[in-house]
Amino acid sequence: MVASGISGRTRPAKVKKQTSAQKRKRDDVDVEKLEQAVAALDPKNGSYKDFSDLPLSDPTKQGLKSSHFAVMTDIQAKAIPLALQGHDILGAAKTGSGKTLSFIIPVLENLYRLQHVGPDAGMGALIISPTRELAIQIFDVLCKIGRHGHMFAAGLVIGGKSLEAERQALGRMNILVGTPGRILQHLSQTVAFNVDDLKMLVLDEADRILDMGFQRDVDAIVEYLPKERQTMLFSATQSRRVSDLARLSLQEPEYVSVHAEDKTATPITLQQNYIICPLEEKLDTLWSFIQASKKSKILCFFTSGKVVKFVFEAFRHMQPGIPLLHLHGKQKQGARLETTAKFSASKCSCLFATDIAARGLDFPAVDFVIQVDCPEDVDTYIHRVGRTARYNREGRGVIFLAPSEEEGMLRRLEAKKVPVELINVRQKKKQSIQSQIAHMCFQDPSLKYLGQKAFVTYVKSIYIQKDKEIFKLMEYDLEAYAASLGLPGAPKVRFLTEDGKLKKQAQRQAREVAVASEDDGDLDGVSKKKVRTKYDRMFEKQNQDVLAPHVRRLMRDDDEDNARTNNHSTGDQTAANGDDDDFLTVKRRVAADSDDASDDEVGAPTAGGRVVHLQGASQPLIIDSNRREKLLKSKKKLLKLKDKGKKLVFDDEGNPHEVYELANEADFKAKGLPEDQRQQFVQAEREVVQQADVEDKAVVKARKKEKMRKRKERERGEKAGGEEGEEDDEDGGVEFDGNQDDLLANFRADAGDDDDGDGDAEVEVEQPKKKKAKKWFQSDSEGDDDDGERGGKKRRKGKKGRGVVEEPQMLDTLEDMEAAAARLLG
Ligand code: ADP
Ligand code: MG
Repeated sequence: MVASGISGRTRPAKVKKQTSAQKRKRDDVDVEKLEQAVAALDPKNGSYKDFSDLPLSDPTKQGLKSSHFAVMTDIQAKAIPLALQGHDILGAAKTGSGKTLSFIIPVLENLYRLQHVGPDAGMGALIISPTRELAIQIFDVLCKIGRHGHMFAAGLVIGGKSLEAERQALGRMNILVGTPGRILQHLSQTVAFNVDDLKMLVLDEADRILDMGFQRDVDAIVEYLPKERQTMLFSATQSRRVSDLARLSLQEPEYVSVHAEDKTATPITLQQNYIICPLEEKLDTLWSFIQASKKSKILCFFTSGKVVKFVFEAFRHMQPGIPLLHLHGKQKQGARLETTAKFSASKCSCLFATDIAARGLDFPAVDFVIQVDCPEDVDTYIHRVGRTARYNREGRGVIFLAPSEEEGMLRRLEAKKVPVELINVRQKKKQSIQSQIAHMCFQDPSLKYLGQKAFVTYVKSIYIQKDKEIFKLMEYDLEAYAASLGLPGAPKVRFLTEDGKLKKQAQRQAREVAVASEDDGDLDGVSKKKVRTKYDRMFEKQNQDVLAPHVRRLMRDDDEDNARTNNHSTGDQTAANGDDDDFLTVKRRVAADSDDASDDEVGAPTAGGRVVHLQGASQPLIIDSNRREKLLKSKKKLLKLKDKGKKLVFDDEGNPHEVYELANEADFKAKGLPEDQRQQFVQAEREVVQQADVEDKAVVKARKKEKMRKRKERERGEKAGGEEGEEDDEDGGVEFDGNQDDLLANFRADAGDDDDGDGDAEVEVEQPKKKKAKKWFQSDSEGDDDDGERGGKKRRKGKKGRGVVEEPQMLDTLEDMEAAAARLLG
């Protein structure tokens, strides 16, 4: 295996050669033995309890040991043996039951046994997650298990990060974790991203990834992947939909469902309750609950980011006495990371979140999950509530149901085996915060504006819910809800009537009729009704303080103008201009084809006017003013009045024809029925397109390959250059890739850990200055230990390992990136 990357080491040739040769031999033997042991597994009948019962490679064993994983969970015991044997898998197990390791271990092991490692091997496994936070978490688990001797290079690609940094490292990656959109972006744009030899595809939270929201991206990704591969899908709410299986070309998948026979679909250590809470009392109840649980770690789910933001801002102002956090999709990536880290690390805090936090996230020791807004379906309920009571720990879930939601939701929950029990709110302990919020909204227009947005998005979200047995828009008291958000009235929402469009149409018609009747009968103007325009409505907006400054300026100007007009206007002017209150009034109508609408009315219109027929113009030109008279002198201007010319094509004899000419009817009939002709034409065109597509793809593939080849050649050249004076050794596992950032880890980093101390005394690693990379979902103490251990190895060059030190490096400043680029260029 040729190791790529930049190394600044010196190592005596002989010792190193020996080491590599020995290692290679050991690996070969290891792999062969493992292959036999895996083939001998009996996943269906065998009972495997501990990780040590499975034929796993030493580095994986080491990784599991260091994380203190010894006994397998049910899903792990069933899924891992099957996955090791290369089966396609549909894995279903409750939330918090250890599904992540069920795919991480097979990924590492299967690639290890295939020796799919090193930059030349290309991408071996792709792990897709629906959210960035979950992708980071999976990547973290992968690193934890993988960094104890595995040689794979692993990467993380998620939105909100530097594309270029990811791009540069992708060519060397063997395992990639990412979100669908970003993976697809790289597949279509990054030349070095080669998935031709992909061995494994994993979808975590598969049902979510396969649903409508990601459909296009996932289908496009699968198009790029080879058909011959192992595919594994995991979720707590796994479906067996045939269409999904077909989309992913699963081959005789094994359905591993460990909790299917259980009485409940949720963890048994989870206590689940619901309270009946009208919309307008939600905030009071939530506030009172938080006040009563200040020593807990609470996760609250809301329907939309706007609601999350409003409740967060409102509660924050009221100083609840517990750290508040908020998380939603519209935040910047940095803020999202910071929030998840803070919530993970905290002992007591309250996180307000949308459903981006509903799936997969493994926040340690969450006490309560409160579903303030009803989830769209039971699957979402199960995932939300699954953020607590993870891995045999205890936890509580409470869902707030409006009276109209109760019956429908309870029926749905029961059907999916989710036990919830009614509890009451202690009225004595309930505080009313409505007047406080109203006061804050009054004081702070931006909060009021947020409240209005929250109201509208909430109502919209109810409106678009599919399950109308649960969500009945007409049964909520929206006025009261608006008041509970501190708003003086319910903001207008278009579809608040059963059919907003129809109502709007009806209103418009009514207005037109009113205007028409004004024209017809009320010419005396006594009952003349003013037609309200978009602009009138705009200036009547309540929230003038939070409008953009330019709108405010406009309004001020408008007022001043009105004042001026009122001061100076005479009765004549008013008569001439009609209604002066209107923002836009018509002074003079200019025909669309006339030159421009400038108000320099040159001279008086000539009475009657002269009619001129222009050649090539369908309409005659009426000369009724001097300006129009002048038109006649300009050929260029007259051109505009003329009709457009026709495009003609000339045949071989020079005869002009129209571009599309009707065919001779007899000839047309002779060719067969129109439908047949159409089909023939479509078929012929399809063949042409298919042919062109094949050719295009071949060209692109060849181009890609050529680029890859050139790049690798260049890299080899650079490497050879960089290692001058050193003994060149293919297995020289010493690697430091200065280009790694915190999201790209190279397992080779610790590859030497299990070596026998051969030749280490001589190894010297010239480390470029590195920043400490803070890992995700890792407590400070863990991080420190880890670093301490690795740092120790760095220092104790002579004692253990081959002195390979690598940490994912943070490249957050421009200088860092430049330095990294300089190092890459040698
Ligand atoms: P899921 O994906 O099923 O929701 P995770 O894979 O996130 O669950 O695991 C939930 C928690 O259980 C994690 O904190 C993980 O560290 C822990 N865990 C998983 N497997 C084991 C195991 N075999 N032994 C101990 N803890 C485990
Ligand atoms: Mg999971």
